[in-house]
Amino acid sequence: MTSFAATVFRKVESTCYHLPVIFNTFLVFSITGEVSYLVLVEAPLQADQKRTEWSSRWKSMHLLAQYFMLCNICWNAVLFVRTSPSIKGAFLGGDGVGHGWRYCYACETHTPPRCSHCYDCKVCVLRRDHHCVFFGQCVGFRNYRYFLSCLLFMWSGLLYATLMNAEVFIVILKEGVTVHSVLLLLIPWVMLISGQVSAHAFAFAFIADTCVVGFLLVSAFFFFHLFLLFRGQTTREWYSSRRPYNLGLLENLRHTFGSCWYLCWLCPLIPSPLPGDGIHFQVTGSLEPTR
Ligand SMILES: [Zn+2]
Ligand SMILES: [Zn+2]
Repeated sequence: MTSFAATVFRKVESTCYHLPVIFNTFLVFSITGEVSYLVLVEAPLQADQKRTEWSSRWKSMHLLAQYFMLCNICWNAVLFVRTSPSIKGAFLGGDGVGHGWRYCYACETHTPPRCSHCYDCKVCVLRRDHHCVFFGQCVGFRNYRYFLSCLLFMWSGLLYATLMNAEVFIVILKEGVTVHSVLLLLIPWVMLISGQVSAHAFAFAFIADTCVVGFLLVSAFFFFHLFLLFRGQTTREWYSSRRPYNLGLLENLRHTFGSCWYLCWLCPLIPSPLPGDGIHFQVTGSLEPTR
């Protein structure tokens, strides 16, 4: 019985661990499907409200842009998860333990500056930024490029989807700012369960809401990481008010995205080797907190 309970607990734990990825994947594909529908059918809620017909070329361009962003989100996410940022496979010996090195009792090894132990990944991570709960992976030296590119395309995709969904809001609010229309936008689930709206109207209201909320959340996260990128800082260094590794904007970009930084964000398959090794970093400022 105890072993059965342990097996059930492990299965529940594993499912919970993967829930954020499953939920996000579902949302990304639902939003893309809904926006494709808006482009192709051009009638969000009522068939008689068609605007000027879009040309097939214009529709193709929209669909191409959507699937370009979707492919970039998925591909960058896969490469982000599959690229281990840990110290495994990194040669930490060389010229020995220098200034800023620490000893990790969990990994039983000396670790370089900017490296820290992740208790979720159970390993030390080079140039560790933070542990991303949505993907169950640490953001570190080797996979930071994929993380930022994924965030960039999520942000642009949600901006695009929010603009495309503006018509859904207009159609819902066309009946006037009534209790019904406001409740449909604020609590679409309750309106569906209580039988106040059709499943069709619910789906559009829910996705339009998700686009707006998702866009606001991803914007905050994206601009925070852009701010850190420009300062050559990790989230952990920002917490401790230290930025001794700032190399200037262009060099920070090169050390994050690699030698082909100006192009590689367009496609995760464009090779762009990183200039450093994730172990040694040029110190340009004080290692002490600045405030
Ligand atoms: Zn460790
Ligand atoms: Zn981690």
